[in-house]
Amino acid sequence: GSRGFAYASGMAAITSLMFLFERGDHLVVTEDLYGGSYRLFEKLFQQFGLSFSYVDTSDVELVRRAIRPNTRALFVESLTNPLLKVADVAALAALCKDKGMLCIVDNTFLTPYLVRCLDLGADITVYSGSKYLSGHNDTVCGLVAVKDAALAEKVYFHQNGAGAVLGPQDSWLTIRGIKTLTIRMERQQENALALASWLKGHPGVGRVYYPGLAEHPGHDLMQRQCTGFGAMIAFEVTRPELVERLLMKTRLISFAESLGGVESLITFPKVQTHADIEPETLQRLGINDLLLRLSVGIEDKDDLIADLAQAFE
Ligand SMILES: *Cc1c(COP(=O)(O)O)cnc(C)c1O
Repeated sequence: GSRGFAYASGMAAITSLMFLFERGDHLVVTEDLYGGSYRLFEKLFQQFGLSFSYVDTSDVELVRRAIRPNTRALFVESLTNPLLKVADVAALAALCKDKGMLCIVDNTFLTPYLVRCLDLGADITVYSGSKYLSGHNDTVCGLVAVKDAALAEKVYFHQNGAGAVLGPQDSWLTIRGIKTLTIRMERQQENALALASWLKGHPGVGRVYYPGLAEHPGHDLMQRQCTGFGAMIAFEVTRPELVERLLMKTRLISFAESLGGVESLITFPKVQTHADIEPETLQRLGINDLLLRLSVGIEDKDDLIADLAQAFE
């Protein structure tokens, strides 16, 4: 990008980007979006006259059909949360260019190490730096990279105007974290593949969502577009009582929100990260009472598997 900006949080970064739009503007957005972004759009920016349509952005045709005459941007997660649907960033960016819309990619789950969205044609990438980029579950941070210099000047004006900046201590922690991003990511993905494969074979587990598995619908696209599959896994257990058992009995894996750090974390999306999304939408998306999400850390993979195994018993 021509310029990069650091914000006090991922949400501060996304909030600042919304200042690019004005009353009457419409955005097309990923439907299984990060819950905080959904809340920001629906509960805050709607009152300023912006409107949002939520679609499955892993299907370019559905995005095309959602575009209206007043659509100014696509806000897409490159890999979605928690169902890990993969967006074809190059195809979506080309569509946006054709329609005169901005293509904004929330690339938090993959990081620039695994996919370079601006090179694929996106205008803006945004990150919760609190996740993989800082990587130690000890910092809250947002990052934005903008391709075009004139657009970057606007983004700078909005950031400065809102005062949505990152403090010096958190800037230092983020820079320190980024130094080990590549090593952490490699280890985390290796662990994630091992865990996903193990979960797939467990009798207490139904569906496993991990794009590194060959049967995942986004596997081939990711193989073309990215240099890895990331370290987020979602899976369904076969019985509701297993949810509580896993959340309460895992010891190495902590029951906690957030993701992307060196420690493995397990969450219950329906009740935690996605609690602000309408029940019908959750049901339709498959974010149900059986779905758990794992953010896989850098621990020894056999220890992680042993921890899950004992929790299932
Ligand atoms: C966490 C997250 C955010 C928000 O970031 P904060 O740093 O927690 O404010 C936005 N998008 C995605 C995909 C996230 O995972």
